Amino acid sequence: MFWDQQVETAGRTELERLQLHRLQETVRRVAHIPFYKQKFTESGLKTGDIRSLDDVRRLPFTTSADLRANYPTGMLAVPLDDALRLHTSSGTTGKPKALFFSRKDVDNAAELCARSFVMTGVTKKDVFQNMMTYGLFTGALVTHYGAEKVGCLVIPAGPGNSERQLLLMQDFRTTFIHVTPSYALYLATFLEKHGINPRRDLALKKAFVGAEPYTEQTRLKIEQGLGLDVYNSYGLSEMNGPGVAFECERKNGMHLWEDHFLIEIINPKTGEPVLDGESGELVMTTLCREAMPLLRYRTRDITSIIAEPCECGRTHRRLNRITGRSDYMLIVRGVNIYPQQVERILMSQPGIGSNYGIHLQVLYEMTGRVELAQTGFDGQVEHLMSLQNHLAEKLRAEILIKPQVRLVQPGTLPVSEGKAKRVVDNRKL
Ligand code: AMP
Ligand code: ZN
Repeated sequence: MFWDQQVETAGRTELERLQLHRLQETVRRVAHIPFYKQKFTESGLKTGDIRSLDDVRRLPFTTSADLRANYPTGMLAVPLDDALRLHTSSGTTGKPKALFFSRKDVDNAAELCARSFVMTGVTKKDVFQNMMTYGLFTGALVTHYGAEKVGCLVIPAGPGNSERQLLLMQDFRTTFIHVTPSYALYLATFLEKHGINPRRDLALKKAFVGAEPYTEQTRLKIEQGLGLDVYNSYGLSEMNGPGVAFECERKNGMHLWEDHFLIEIINPKTGEPVLDGESGELVMTTLCREAMPLLRYRTRDITSIIAEPCECGRTHRRLNRITGRSDYMLIVRGVNIYPQQVERILMSQPGIGSNYGIHLQVLYEMTGRVELAQTGFDGQVEHLMSLQNHLAEKLRAEILIKPQVRLVQPGTLPVSEGKAKRVVDNRKL
């Protein structure tokens, strides 16, 4: 099913022609912003120098530090009067990043979400319970508008309060949800505890799961626990929020809407492009944003591009699952470790629940606290010890250092409703 078949299946040449035209417009639009004006002057770039898509490499990068330095209105490309909505980015310390939307930006963001929902089979008959955080965060509002555009009944539930979520799902026959992986896992445990069999008792069909990295194992766990199909959903506030890249029905990589974003994958250390299909940092240039266009934004997200055409017929290339962030990488005893590697191991072990935390206290030690599954422990201490050992060995094989693993009762670790904070790094380096 298509929301905008012509655009979604446009030939590559046509798509690239459109991208170049929009890139040139974007460069002209940002040229008067003092931040970009200075960058252009420093490198001697004139707005007319962008003649091909490869010329994007002549443009400066923009980082989240640049957005913070130009807080609150320094990156605006339109008069403040023309801005319709302000979002800020989540999860970081210090000053937030201020992100402005014009009327057209609000509409475009909803349009991309509508496309993303419809490509998995969502129709106006569906009932959408949005479990993302409403407020300054883009996660909920942007998909809310997208689902309304499709014509769905939208329930702005927000995260948490699982009793109420269940009531809403039962009474209004919710068919799809938008949720973080951590809350989805929690909800699955909650349903199990309350004797709810989702396939029998609820009308759920799909979950759009994103806002934080998770693994294929976690997808399976959520699919089993909630009795639905999980579609990986990627976005970031700097690029409208959700709706940047979502999976189609094939569930095999996320189509990134290339008529709105120009993508590059670079080596995060050198800034140079990586070879096709290799993994690196995703860098995006907005092609349609009016209020706050961004050139070559360093997302810090590590992924790779699937260039082969998708069986669904869409021509927009796909992103592989985000494996981590270039700035979330942990270095323990000189070894680079992505929390995703740990998650992959934990989530594929029988007897293990869905919540875990990684603690780094002293320089050379990594401790993991991992919850047991509801039904995972028979009370025998030796079984517990042997499972702990088994996990530590499995982890050693993957991350090359042996962490200390402590298994804890289900429900011991803090539950996050928004983005989970899995890693606590208290090391004084
Ligand atoms: P925010 O701007 O607060 O919405 O956060 C955006 C960030 O969340 C992205 O840069 C990613 O690091 C992360 N994120 C969002 N969606 C996904 C996803 N499907 N998989 C992995 N990470 C994601
Ligand atoms: Zn597809």
